[in-house]
Amino acid sequence: MIQLESITRSFALGKEQIRVLNDISLTIAEGEFVAIMGPSGSGKSTLMNIIGCLDKPSSGEYYLGGENVSGYSENELARVRNQSIGFVFQQFHLLPRLTALKNVELPMIYAGVSKAERQERAEEALTKMGLRDRMDHLPNALSGGQKQRVAIARAIVNKPKLILADEPTGALDTKTSISIMEQFQELNSEGVTIVVVTHEPEVAEYANRTIMVRDGRLQSASAADGR
Ligand code: ADP
Ligand code: MG
Repeated sequence: MIQLESITRSFALGKEQIRVLNDISLTIAEGEFVAIMGPSGSGKSTLMNIIGCLDKPSSGEYYLGGENVSGYSENELARVRNQSIGFVFQQFHLLPRLTALKNVELPMIYAGVSKAERQERAEEALTKMGLRDRMDHLPNALSGGQKQRVAIARAIVNKPKLILADEPTGALDTKTSISIMEQFQELNSEGVTIVVVTHEPEVAEYANRTIMVRDGRLQSASAADGR
């Protein structure tokens, strides 16, 4: 599903180029549940942004579902994102003036789904996340865990094959973190490929494979890798 070949990513800092990702080659198969770990500043989010077609590599090739997206324009990348990928972030990224239901409807507005179908599918996704009685609440009236469940409902509402979550439990207590990871585990058992960035070993344990990033390079897989 995901194939990175010798990816680099550099950013300009004054006259210098700072290389943040260095020669990253990585394959993630459909149906995998992968955790990405590594110190702060090691390049995890930069890598996730490339995997999520939010950013482009400076060099190297990226194949997503067999499609070489490395040279895609912004518009083409946006299409790939909307069609194939659900995103979950540490700070939830919900729109504060919209109810849970309307937040979940948003990706379908971009996808051109009719109003009636939007509402039906948003209700279905929120019900699946255990939020049937919270649909008309504004984000501020929800707990952190509930906000993240709304964000997951939003991520799955267009039925993506891939979910990318960058530190999804970073703002949550341990008990809530576990319930969120169980939610990802369930989605994975339904066939969704999941990639989660985390600092927390207990969170990474939910994945089938752990990838370590250090100074912009991949390190060998952990012993938790069952393959
Ligand atoms: P992590 O998510 O592992 O904490 P990041 O991928 O966010 O790390 O950042 C890795 C390094 O790249 C950091 O040193 C960061 O300052 C740098 N970096 C990330 N994005 C940019 C950018 N847009 N411009 C310049 N430097 C960046
Ligand atoms: Mg990060």
